[in-house]
Amino acid sequence: MKWIDSHAHLDDHAFDSDRASVIARCSEEGLGILSIGSSLRSSLAAIQLARRYRNMWATVGVHPHGAKSVDAEALTELKALAQDDLVVGIGEIGLDYYRDLSPRDRQRDVFAQQLDLAAELALPICLHNRESTDDLLAILKTRGAAHRGVVHSFLGDSALAEDFLALGLHLGVGGPLTYPKNGALRDAIKHVPLDRILLETDCPYLTPIPYRGRRNEPTYVKYVAEEIAHLKGLEMNDIARQTTENVIRVFGLSE
Ligand SMILES: [Zn+2]
Repeated sequence: MKWIDSHAHLDDHAFDSDRASVIARCSEEGLGILSIGSSLRSSLAAIQLARRYRNMWATVGVHPHGAKSVDAEALTELKALAQDDLVVGIGEIGLDYYRDLSPRDRQRDVFAQQLDLAAELALPICLHNRESTDDLLAILKTRGAAHRGVVHSFLGDSALAEDFLALGLHLGVGGPLTYPKNGALRDAIKHVPLDRILLETDCPYLTPIPYRGRRNEPTYVKYVAEEIAHLKGLEMNDIARQTTENVIRVFGLSE
């Protein structure tokens, strides 16, 4: 594997008409993919994709948007899914106070419960955080001191990057790094050690320039890598090698 997209939603309807050819392009370019669950249904779909394609792995979890529908039965089902051999992490889990699609107290409870599941099964985590940083950090700090995992779609500044790095977390960097308005993000990433950065697309969303406005796909991680190489004054090969190593280490991937 030359590259890994550490955050993709290839089960999304946006890929219904050409999923197999999108994944074939990934194989041709030596690209591995973490297929990220965001509900019970998509977690199962992620596992099914990982079962079918050698270059894919799955994570399972319920996104904060769906927290309101998580009960004890759903958590039991999630735990069963999490024990599949192809599952390498719990996520995406976290908080979202921007869209507030579930009540905030439910979001916090369900996040904490999934963190406990990750700890119990010794799996790394994939975090979603939108306008909820203070509560997210507070919950992370009370639920165990060390966390292996990634803050997906990191969009913060240097100070916030420091906070997450201090907790032992990695930063997932995707298309928004290429958007003109994100100068503070670029400044942060310039100073984050390369061994703490994971490339991601969050496809079909957050398409990098030059394809912004169109559907995103895993092979576009190279445009994110190009921006990181430019910011750090490194070669593309350095970015590919180190970020691939990072995903393998954090998620314990084996081919
Ligand atoms: Zn996502």
